[in-house]
Amino acid sequence: MGIREFVEVEQLDKLVQKISRVCRVETISEVACGDRTYPITKLVFGPDDKTLPTFGLFGGVHGLEKVGTHLALHYLECIAAQLEWDEELNKRLERCRLVSIPIVNPGGMSRNWRSNPRGIDIMRNAPIEATEPPPMLLGGHRIGPFLPWYRGKRGAPMEVESQALVDTVREEIFPARSSLCLDLHSGFGSMDRLWYPYAKSRHSFPRYDETKRIERILNNSYPFHVYKVEPQSNSYTTHGDVWDYLFDDFEAQNTQSDNIFIPWTLEMGSWIWVRKNPLQMFSLLGPFNPIKPHRYRRIMRRHYWLIDFFFKIAAKAPHWKVEARS
Ligand SMILES: [Zn+2]
Repeated sequence: MGIREFVEVEQLDKLVQKISRVCRVETISEVACGDRTYPITKLVFGPDDKTLPTFGLFGGVHGLEKVGTHLALHYLECIAAQLEWDEELNKRLERCRLVSIPIVNPGGMSRNWRSNPRGIDIMRNAPIEATEPPPMLLGGHRIGPFLPWYRGKRGAPMEVESQALVDTVREEIFPARSSLCLDLHSGFGSMDRLWYPYAKSRHSFPRYDETKRIERILNNSYPFHVYKVEPQSNSYTTHGDVWDYLFDDFEAQNTQSDNIFIPWTLEMGSWIWVRKNPLQMFSLLGPFNPIKPHRYRRIMRRHYWLIDFFFKIAAKAPHWKVEARS
Protein backbone atom coordinates (compact mmCIF):
# COMPACT_ATOMS: atom_id res chain seq x y z
CA MET A 1 0.00 0.00 0.00
CA GLY A 2 1.34 3.42 -0.89
CA ILE A 3 0.68 6.52 -2.86
CA ARG A 4 1.88 5.07 -6.18
CA GLU A 5 -0.81 2.38 -6.40
CA PHE A 6 -3.45 4.96 -6.35
CA VAL A 7 -7.06 3.93 -6.64
CA GLU A 8 -8.80 6.00 -4.01
CA VAL A 9 -12.36 5.68 -5.26
CA GLU A 10 -12.01 1.88 -5.25
CA GLN A 11 -10.40 2.07 -1.81
CA LEU A 12 -13.36 4.05 -0.54
CA ASP A 13 -15.79 1.53 -2.10
CA LYS A 14 -14.00 -1.34 -0.38
CA LEU A 15 -14.01 0.53 2.92
CA VAL A 16 -17.72 1.28 2.59
CA GLN A 17 -18.52 -2.41 2.01
CA LYS A 18 -16.50 -3.29 5.06
CA ILE A 19 -17.87 -0.68 7.46
CA SER A 20 -21.39 0.08 6.21
CA ARG A 21 -22.94 -1.83 9.13
CA VAL A 22 -21.43 0.66 11.60
CA CYS A 23 -22.10 3.88 9.69
CA ARG A 24 -24.54 5.44 7.24
CA VAL A 25 -23.26 5.96 3.72
CA GLU A 26 -24.75 8.32 1.17
CA THR A 27 -23.82 9.46 -2.32
CA ILE A 28 -24.45 13.17 -2.03
CA SER A 29 -23.39 14.28 -5.49
CA GLU A 30 -21.82 13.12 -8.71
CA VAL A 31 -18.99 14.66 -10.67
CA ALA A 32 -18.54 14.29 -14.42
CA CYS A 33 -14.94 13.70 -15.44
CA GLY A 34 -14.33 12.89 -19.11
CA ASP A 35 -16.50 9.89 -19.91
CA ARG A 36 -16.71 8.84 -16.26
CA THR A 37 -18.82 9.94 -13.35
CA TYR A 38 -17.53 9.80 -9.79
CA PRO A 39 -19.68 9.84 -6.65
CA ILE A 40 -19.01 12.15 -3.72
CA THR A 41 -19.60 9.94 -0.69
CA LYS A 42 -20.55 10.98 2.81
CA LEU A 43 -20.19 8.72 5.86
CA VAL A 44 -21.91 9.36 9.19
CA PHE A 45 -21.13 7.47 12.41
CA GLY A 46 -23.24 7.85 15.56
CA PRO A 47 -26.85 8.75 16.38
CA ASP A 48 -29.31 10.58 14.14
CA ASP A 49 -29.60 13.47 16.61
CA LYS A 50 -27.74 16.27 14.83
CA THR A 51 -27.58 18.49 17.90
CA LEU A 52 -24.99 16.15 19.44
CA PRO A 53 -21.33 17.23 19.35
CA THR A 54 -19.92 16.46 15.93
CA PHE A 55 -16.51 15.99 14.38
CA GLY A 56 -16.13 16.48 10.62
CA LEU A 57 -13.22 14.83 8.78
CA PHE A 58 -12.52 15.84 5.19
CA GLY A 59 -9.86 14.96 2.62
CA GLY A 60 -9.12 15.16 -1.07
CA VAL A 61 -10.26 18.76 -1.63
CA HIS A 62 -7.12 19.09 -3.74
CA GLY A 63 -6.86 16.04 -5.97
CA LEU A 64 -3.07 15.89 -5.93
CA GLU A 65 -2.89 15.79 -2.15
CA LYS A 66 -3.76 12.13 -1.94
CA VAL A 67 -2.14 11.51 1.40
CA GLY A 68 -4.98 13.41 3.13
CA THR A 69 -7.57 11.06 1.65
CA HIS A 70 -5.45 8.05 2.60
CA LEU A 71 -5.19 9.34 6.15
CA ALA A 72 -8.97 9.87 6.39
CA LEU A 73 -9.68 6.38 5.00
CA HIS A 74 -7.11 4.89 7.36
CA TYR A 75 -8.71 6.61 10.35
CA LEU A 76 -12.26 5.53 9.42
CA GLU A 77 -11.15 1.95 8.90
CA CYS A 78 -9.44 1.91 12.30
CA ILE A 79 -12.53 3.38 13.98
CA ALA A 80 -14.73 0.68 12.42
CA ALA A 81 -12.35 -2.06 13.60
CA GLN A 82 -12.11 -0.61 17.11
CA LEU A 83 -15.88 -0.43 17.44
CA GLU A 84 -15.89 -4.22 17.65
CA TRP A 85 -14.08 -4.26 21.00
CA ASP A 86 -13.66 -0.74 22.38
CA GLU A 87 -16.55 0.03 24.74
CA GLU A 88 -15.35 3.57 25.34
CA LEU A 89 -15.40 4.33 21.63
CA ASN A 90 -18.88 2.81 21.38
CA LYS A 91 -20.00 5.06 24.23
CA ARG A 92 -18.42 8.08 22.54
CA LEU A 93 -20.43 7.32 19.44
CA GLU A 94 -23.63 7.24 21.49
CA ARG A 95 -22.92 10.78 22.67
CA CYS A 96 -21.46 12.31 19.52
CA ARG A 97 -21.19 11.97 15.77
CA LEU A 98 -18.48 11.63 13.16
CA VAL A 99 -19.18 12.93 9.66
CA SER A 100 -16.72 12.44 6.81
CA ILE A 101 -16.21 13.05 3.10
CA PRO A 102 -12.84 11.34 2.49
CA ILE A 103 -12.70 12.39 -1.20
CA VAL A 104 -14.25 15.79 -1.79
CA ASN A 105 -12.77 16.08 -5.31
CA PRO A 106 -12.72 12.57 -6.84
CA GLY A 107 -12.51 13.82 -10.44
CA GLY A 108 -9.41 15.91 -9.72
CA MET A 109 -7.89 13.02 -7.80
CA SER A 110 -8.45 10.59 -10.65
CA ARG A 111 -6.52 12.95 -12.93
CA ASN A 112 -3.80 13.85 -10.44
CA TRP A 113 -4.95 17.46 -10.54
CA ARG A 114 -5.09 19.94 -7.70
CA SER A 115 -8.28 21.46 -9.14
CA ASN A 116 -11.54 19.75 -10.04
CA PRO A 117 -12.00 18.42 -13.62
CA ARG A 118 -13.15 21.90 -14.73
CA GLY A 119 -9.87 23.44 -13.62
CA ILE A 120 -11.33 25.18 -10.58
CA ASP A 121 -9.62 25.12 -7.18
CA ILE A 122 -12.24 24.05 -4.63
CA MET A 123 -10.49 25.92 -1.80
CA ARG A 124 -10.63 29.20 -3.81
CA ASN A 125 -14.19 28.74 -5.08
CA ALA A 126 -16.44 30.05 -2.29
CA PRO A 127 -18.10 33.46 -2.79
CA ILE A 128 -15.90 35.28 -0.29
CA GLU A 129 -13.19 37.88 -0.82
CA ALA A 130 -9.93 38.32 1.06
CA THR A 131 -10.01 41.57 3.01
CA GLU A 132 -6.26 42.05 2.59
CA PRO A 133 -4.52 41.56 -0.76
CA PRO A 134 -3.50 37.89 -1.10
CA PRO A 135 -0.39 36.75 -3.00
CA MET A 136 -0.76 36.89 -6.79
CA LEU A 137 -2.24 33.70 -8.31
CA LEU A 138 -1.75 31.54 -5.18
CA GLY A 139 -4.35 33.60 -3.32
CA GLY A 140 -6.96 32.82 -5.98
CA HIS A 141 -7.53 34.50 -9.38
CA ARG A 142 -10.04 34.71 -12.21
CA ILE A 143 -7.61 34.61 -15.14
CA GLY A 144 -8.50 31.11 -16.29
CA PRO A 145 -8.42 27.38 -15.53
CA PHE A 146 -5.06 26.94 -17.29
CA LEU A 147 -3.36 28.39 -14.19
CA PRO A 148 -3.56 26.78 -10.73
CA TRP A 149 -5.65 28.43 -7.97
CA TYR A 150 -8.39 29.48 -10.43
CA ARG A 151 -11.54 30.58 -8.58
CA GLY A 152 -14.04 30.18 -11.42
CA LYS A 153 -16.07 32.94 -13.09
CA ARG A 154 -17.32 35.80 -10.95
CA GLY A 155 -20.95 35.27 -9.92
CA ALA A 156 -21.05 31.65 -11.13
CA PRO A 157 -22.59 29.09 -8.76
CA MET A 158 -20.18 27.12 -6.65
CA GLU A 159 -18.73 23.96 -8.17
CA VAL A 160 -20.43 20.63 -7.46
CA GLU A 161 -17.63 19.62 -5.09
CA SER A 162 -17.64 22.90 -3.13
CA GLN A 163 -21.44 22.80 -2.90
CA ALA A 164 -21.37 19.18 -1.66
CA LEU A 165 -18.92 20.17 1.06
CA VAL A 166 -20.95 23.25 2.03
CA ASP A 167 -24.26 21.31 2.05
CA THR A 168 -22.80 18.52 4.19
CA VAL A 169 -21.41 20.92 6.78
CA ARG A 170 -24.66 22.92 6.89
CA GLU A 171 -26.89 19.84 7.16
CA GLU A 172 -24.82 17.55 9.35
CA ILE A 173 -22.59 19.82 11.40
CA PHE A 174 -24.20 23.25 11.87
CA PRO A 175 -27.03 21.87 14.09
CA ALA A 176 -24.49 20.46 16.59
CA ARG A 177 -24.07 22.12 19.99
CA SER A 178 -20.33 21.97 19.42
CA SER A 179 -18.40 20.92 16.36
CA LEU A 180 -14.90 20.87 15.00
CA CYS A 181 -13.81 19.98 11.47
CA LEU A 182 -10.42 18.86 10.25
CA ASP A 183 -9.64 19.18 6.54
CA LEU A 184 -6.53 17.24 5.47
CA HIS A 185 -4.09 18.88 3.03
CA SER A 186 -0.41 18.55 2.10
CA GLY A 187 2.22 20.33 0.08
CA PHE A 188 3.03 23.58 1.87
CA GLY A 189 6.16 24.18 3.91
CA SER A 190 8.60 22.06 5.83
CA MET A 191 6.58 21.55 8.99
CA ASP A 192 3.12 20.24 9.80
CA ARG A 193 0.76 23.12 10.39
CA LEU A 194 -2.59 23.20 12.11
CA TRP A 195 -4.48 26.12 10.69
CA TYR A 196 -7.56 27.81 12.04
CA PRO A 197 -9.42 30.68 10.29
CA TYR A 198 -9.17 33.10 8.76
CA ALA A 199 -7.61 32.57 5.35
CA LYS A 200 -9.13 35.83 4.12
CA SER A 201 -7.69 38.17 6.75
CA ARG A 202 -4.87 38.61 9.22
CA HIS A 203 -7.30 40.05 11.74
CA SER A 204 -8.12 37.58 14.45
CA PHE A 205 -11.33 35.73 13.94
CA PRO A 206 -14.24 35.68 16.41
CA ARG A 207 -13.39 32.29 17.98
CA TYR A 208 -9.74 33.11 18.59
CA ASP A 209 -10.03 32.53 22.35
CA GLU A 210 -11.48 29.07 21.81
CA THR A 211 -8.75 28.10 19.34
CA LYS A 212 -6.13 29.21 21.84
CA ARG A 213 -7.76 27.05 24.52
CA ILE A 214 -7.79 24.05 22.19
CA GLU A 215 -4.13 24.73 21.40
CA ARG A 216 -3.32 24.83 25.11
CA ILE A 217 -5.10 21.51 25.71
CA LEU A 218 -3.18 20.03 22.78
CA ASN A 219 0.14 21.34 24.12
CA ASN A 220 -0.51 20.13 27.67
CA SER A 221 -1.92 16.75 26.69
CA TYR A 222 0.66 15.93 23.99
CA PRO A 223 3.76 18.01 24.78
CA PHE A 224 5.85 16.39 22.05
CA HIS A 225 3.41 17.01 19.22
CA VAL A 226 4.88 18.28 15.97
CA TYR A 227 2.36 20.92 14.91
CA LYS A 228 2.75 24.63 14.44
CA VAL A 229 -0.67 26.00 15.40
CA GLU A 230 -1.55 29.28 13.68
CA PRO A 231 -4.21 31.09 11.68
CA GLN A 232 -3.92 30.23 8.00
CA SER A 233 -3.30 33.90 7.19
CA ASN A 234 0.07 33.64 8.99
CA SER A 235 1.23 31.61 5.98
CA TYR A 236 -0.77 33.37 3.26
CA THR A 237 -4.20 34.89 2.68
CA THR A 238 -6.61 33.70 0.00
CA HIS A 239 -9.88 34.50 -1.69
CA GLY A 240 -12.69 31.98 -1.78
CA ASP A 241 -11.76 29.77 1.19
CA VAL A 242 -14.69 27.42 1.79
CA TRP A 243 -14.00 27.17 5.54
CA ASP A 244 -14.00 30.96 5.97
CA TYR A 245 -17.27 31.05 4.04
CA LEU A 246 -18.84 28.32 6.20
CA PHE A 247 -17.56 29.84 9.43
CA ASP A 248 -19.00 33.28 8.63
CA ASP A 249 -22.25 31.68 7.47
CA PHE A 250 -22.52 29.72 10.71
CA GLU A 251 -21.83 32.77 12.88
CA ALA A 252 -24.40 34.85 10.96
CA GLN A 253 -27.09 32.18 11.42
CA ASN A 254 -26.30 31.45 15.03
CA THR A 255 -26.49 34.85 16.65
CA GLN A 256 -29.21 33.58 19.01
CA SER A 257 -27.81 30.16 19.73
CA ASP A 258 -24.99 28.97 21.89
CA ASN A 259 -23.67 26.53 19.30
CA ILE A 260 -20.05 26.65 18.28
CA PHE A 261 -18.31 25.52 15.08
CA ILE A 262 -14.59 25.83 14.37
CA PRO A 263 -13.04 24.48 11.16
CA TRP A 264 -9.38 23.44 11.22
CA THR A 265 -6.99 22.42 8.47
CA LEU A 266 -4.03 20.08 8.78
CA GLU A 267 -1.43 21.14 6.22
CA MET A 268 1.18 18.38 6.15
CA GLY A 269 4.56 19.90 5.35
CA SER A 270 5.66 17.87 2.36
CA TRP A 271 8.91 19.76 1.81
CA ILE A 272 10.51 17.54 4.48
CA TRP A 273 9.65 14.44 2.45
CA VAL A 274 11.09 16.04 -0.68
CA ARG A 275 14.27 17.08 1.12
CA LYS A 276 14.81 13.52 2.32
CA ASN A 277 14.08 12.09 -1.13
CA PRO A 278 14.84 14.85 -3.68
CA LEU A 279 14.08 12.63 -6.67
CA GLN A 280 10.39 12.70 -5.86
CA MET A 281 10.39 16.38 -6.83
CA PHE A 282 10.38 15.14 -10.42
CA SER A 283 7.25 13.05 -10.11
CA LEU A 284 3.80 14.60 -10.36
CA LEU A 285 2.65 13.39 -6.95
CA GLY A 286 6.06 13.71 -5.30
CA PRO A 287 5.84 17.28 -4.03
CA PHE A 288 2.53 16.54 -2.27
CA ASN A 289 2.79 12.99 -0.95
CA PRO A 290 5.22 10.70 0.88
CA ILE A 291 6.42 8.31 -1.83
CA LYS A 292 8.74 5.92 0.01
CA PRO A 293 6.70 3.16 1.73
CA HIS A 294 8.33 3.60 5.15
CA ARG A 295 7.64 7.34 5.06
CA TYR A 296 4.05 6.73 3.96
CA ARG A 297 3.52 4.40 6.95
CA ARG A 298 5.17 6.93 9.23
CA ILE A 299 2.78 9.66 8.04
CA MET A 300 -0.23 7.43 8.71
CA ARG A 301 1.06 6.81 12.26
CA ARG A 302 2.19 10.41 12.80
CA HIS A 303 -1.22 12.02 12.37
CA TYR A 304 -3.63 9.29 13.45
CA TRP A 305 -3.76 10.44 17.06
CA LEU A 306 -4.32 14.07 16.02
CA ILE A 307 -7.51 13.09 14.21
CA ASP A 308 -8.55 11.13 17.29
CA PHE A 309 -7.77 14.15 19.47
CA PHE A 310 -10.07 16.37 17.39
CA PHE A 311 -12.81 13.74 17.49
CA LYS A 312 -12.58 13.57 21.28
CA ILE A 313 -12.17 17.26 21.99
CA ALA A 314 -15.12 18.20 19.71
CA ALA A 315 -17.35 16.65 22.37
CA LYS A 316 -15.60 18.43 25.25
CA ALA A 317 -16.65 21.99 24.52
CA PRO A 318 -17.03 22.88 28.23
CA HIS A 319 -13.24 22.59 28.44
CA TRP A 320 -12.53 25.08 25.67
CA LYS A 321 -15.62 27.16 25.08
CA VAL A 322 -15.62 30.76 26.26
CA GLU A 323 -19.02 31.41 27.77
CA ALA A 324 -19.34 35.17 27.71
CA ARG A 325 -18.98 36.57 24.21
CA SER A 326 -18.85 40.27 23.59
ZN1 LIG B 1 -4.50 21.56 -0.32
